[in-house]
Amino acid sequence: MYTCGEKPGRGTYVCNYCSTRVHLDDDTDALPPCPTCQKCSYTRA
Ligand SMILES: [Zn+2]
Repeated sequence: MYTCGEKPGRGTYVCNYCSTRVHLDDDTDALPPCPTCQKCSYTRA
């Protein structure tokens, strides 16, 4: 499980609350708050 501000690497992450997908294009990108529900809990897609 990942939270906002972590930099888990390039890939697709799915919000644990609303299933919105967030894409990180670079290994230095940090996970943002979910654009739909503003929560901070993701798992790797
Ligand atoms: Zn969400």
